[in-house]
Amino acid sequence: MKKIILTGDRPTGNLHLGHYVGSLKNRVKLQEEGNYDEMYVFIADTQALTDNFNNPKKVRDSVLEVVLDYLSVGLNPDKVTIFIQSLIPALPELTMYYMNLVTLARLERNPTVKGEIKQKEFGSSIPVGFLNYPISQTADITAFDATIVPVGEDQLPMLEQAREIVRSFNNIYGSTLVEPKALIPDNESCRRLPGTDGKAKMSKSLGNCIYLKDDSETVKKKVMSMYTDPNHLRVEDPGNTKDNPVFIYLEALSTEEHFKKYLSEYNNLDELKAHYEKGGLGDVKVKKFLYDVIEDILTPIREKRKYYEENIDLVYDILKEGSEKANRKANSTLKRVKKAMLIDYFD
Ligand code: ATP
Ligand code: MG
Repeated sequence: MKKIILTGDRPTGNLHLGHYVGSLKNRVKLQEEGNYDEMYVFIADTQALTDNFNNPKKVRDSVLEVVLDYLSVGLNPDKVTIFIQSLIPALPELTMYYMNLVTLARLERNPTVKGEIKQKEFGSSIPVGFLNYPISQTADITAFDATIVPVGEDQLPMLEQAREIVRSFNNIYGSTLVEPKALIPDNESCRRLPGTDGKAKMSKSLGNCIYLKDDSETVKKKVMSMYTDPNHLRVEDPGNTKDNPVFIYLEALSTEEHFKKYLSEYNNLDELKAHYEKGGLGDVKVKKFLYDVIEDILTPIREKRKYYEENIDLVYDILKEGSEKANRKANSTLKRVKKAMLIDYFD
C-alpha cells in the first residue's frame, strides 16, 4: 500500500506554537525523511467557513497567512502539494455521499465537536454545516487516499469518525476507500499545548497564542506575562511544574543544546524542574529562558517568512499549481467512489 500523508489547517488566523509542536514539526520531519509516496497539506477554508460564515474576510485574509506560515517553517512545495480546500469540488460531493452513512447522534457524540459547540456558544442553534464538519474532513482525507494524518490530540475523534465512515462505505459498496491513521507527537506536551493563559489548549479562537510570526518584543511580552503556578508567590516557595504552562512549553520546545547555550548552570529540564519544585527558583528566570528558547526557534522561521512575503507571486503560484494537482487526484478518487456506488452512468 502507498504511504500518503495529508493534513490541513483552518484559515482562522495565523499558526501558533501549538500548531508547530502538535503537527507542523511532524510534517517537516516526515517531509525530510522522504519515506512516503505523496504528501498533501491544505488550507481548510471550507471548514473555517462552517463557524466563520459571517466573517469571510477573516477567512480570506488568513489563507495567505497560513501558507506563509507553512513555507516559513520549511514545508517545501517541491516535495509537498499545498492546496486550498474550496478549489477541490470533489470534496463536497464526497461529503454528500458520506452523510448517508452517519447518524445525527453519532455527530453529537464527538467530544471535540461537543467542546467547540460549547465554546462557540451555539446553544441549540448549531449550524448544520458545523456539525457536519467531521464528515467533510473524512472527504478531505479519503479523497487523497491518505494513510497517515499528523495532527494534535483534539483531532483523534475526527480520525475515528473517518475510519468508521471508510469501513461502512467499504462494507456497503465494496472495498474502495483507504483507512487513515492519526500520527500524534511522541512528546505528550506537544499533543495539546496549553494557552499562555493556562487554558487547556492554545487556540486561534481563544486569543491565548504565541504566533510563529510574532516579533521578539511581542514574544517577550507574552512569555513574561504567562500564567504559572498561582501558589508560587515568593522565590523560596516550592513550585508546581506539572500544570504550569511555562514548564509544559519547555517540555515541548527545549533541548539540552538550549541549556548549554542559555542556562548552563543546569544540564537539562529535569534539573531545572527539581530546583523549581524544591523552591528557590523564580518565575522570571525560567520565563527568560523560555523566551530564549522560543526566539531560537522562531528566528529562522521569521527570516524565511520575510523572503516569501517579498515574493508573494511565488506563493500564489505554489497554491495554484498545488490546487490543480490536488484536483486531479481527488477527481480520480471521486470516479472510483461513483463507480462503486453505481452512479457512473456514462463511463
Ligand atoms: P481554531 O480555533 O480555529 O479551531 P486551532 O488553533 O484549533 O484553530 P486548527 O486549524 O483547528 O487550529 O488545527 C490545526 C492542527 O493543529 C490540528 O492538527 C490540531 O490538532 C493542531 N493543533 C491546534 N492547536 C494545537 C495545540 N494547542 N496543541 C497541539 N496541536 C494543536
Ligand atoms: Mg481547531
